[in-house]
Amino acid sequence: MNKIIVQKFGGTSVADTDKIKNVADIVVREKENGNDVVVVVSAMGHTTDHLVKMAKSLTPNPSGREMDMLLSTGEGISIALLAMAIQAKGYDAISFNAMQIGIITENIHSKARILDIKTNKLKENLDRGKIIVVAGFQGVTEDGDITTLGRGGSDTSAVALAAALGAERCDIYTDVEGVYTTDPRIVKNASKLEQVSYEEMLELAHAGANVLHPRSVETAKQFSVPLRVRSSFNIENMGTLIVGVDKMEMYKPVAGVAADLSQVRVVVCDVPDRPGVAATLFGALAKENISVDMIIQSYANKVSNTNDIAFTIDISDLEKAKIVLECMNDTIGASDVKVDDNIAKISIVGAGMIDRPGIASTMFEALAKLNINIKMISTSEIKVSCLVDKKDVQKAIKSLHTVFDLESNVIADVKGDLPDV
Ligand code: ADP
Ligand code: ASP
Ligand code: MG
Repeated sequence: MNKIIVQKFGGTSVADTDKIKNVADIVVREKENGNDVVVVVSAMGHTTDHLVKMAKSLTPNPSGREMDMLLSTGEGISIALLAMAIQAKGYDAISFNAMQIGIITENIHSKARILDIKTNKLKENLDRGKIIVVAGFQGVTEDGDITTLGRGGSDTSAVALAAALGAERCDIYTDVEGVYTTDPRIVKNASKLEQVSYEEMLELAHAGANVLHPRSVETAKQFSVPLRVRSSFNIENMGTLIVGVDKMEMYKPVAGVAADLSQVRVVVCDVPDRPGVAATLFGALAKENISVDMIIQSYANKVSNTNDIAFTIDISDLEKAKIVLECMNDTIGASDVKVDDNIAKISIVGAGMIDRPGIASTMFEALAKLNINIKMISTSEIKVSCLVDKKDVQKAIKSLHTVFDLESNVIADVKGDLPDV
């Protein structure tokens, strides 16, 4: 039996028909190596951003179901075009969307998790020698409704397919040459990592390093899928391998720096200081599938016996959260709810910071030297995150990258342009 290789190509890699031909070359080369190939593709270029913009011009709060119907169409275009480009090179290829395969997800719109992938159709077609092209980012519920996995979710489609098929490897082809110590669009001389552990990559991805969708790393770790991030535009470079265990005890304290500009801070003011209040508040948000990231509850005011509770959520959940929070004034007796969207989360990540004192204080000192005010702080064993004003992100990232000794003397090769939403 041949080995199965899953390859995933992001939006920049399939942005126009010339780039789709380039992808077809890479796919065929893998087939010529004697492997069975399953290819996962994203929507072309900024297609998904444009679809979001159109929907938002009609209503600020589009229905989740219709939004998923709309956004899933982007990937539908790329799979058909790539299958044609592969066929034009004389190879047998067939495209499938999630419904045709049976990529079954939860019944949740805009960030559904994959529950199961039916592999019979995939295996039948691989056995017939076909190259299979699959639409990333989308799924289908048991009831036949289209869902999407969340922005950037094609990475997760690819890793989940690799796990379901017992693939030899999952290669994520993108517009940079691998995983860097920070976003090479912000710091031109960021260093490319040869290897990074699943744990560090997971924290980096959650902290905003959108080179990999966080859930793709989670899935790769859970099912031990060997995962590589590499460039569609320089296939000689082997990119970055995401591995189980990195060099033991040899870490620099910080492996990478990341920024997340997609969050908003919500402050629920003057909440009574009594048991059950946090459970009611966060329970109501959880019921609406709103994930909360950083949380701070201030020291109770002894006179009024109240607290302020501040937390951050993804901006895409803000409209839904506002509806939940409107009821909270009555339910838990808050006096006001304030929203601050002028924020960004910057994080340092590294397994080497475990049991090494002084890393967080070095970060705070670097920010203080730049006169950057920290609005919230959170930590995990291998991550420190600070919430700052959006305007401070670039200088904060550049400074932390230098302070933690992450620079390279090579300028990173970056293709494509920034998303326009
Ligand atoms: P694709 O469309 O291929 O999925 P994405 O735009 O989702 O590509 O992810 C690639 C982008 O991730 C890069 O162009 C880069 O700007 C950004 N990025 C952020 N942090 C990092 C990092 N630490 N290493 C590499 N790229 C990063
Ligand atoms: N096309 C989707 C997006 O832009 C999914 C992806 O690119 O992974 O978010
Ligand atoms: Mg992506």
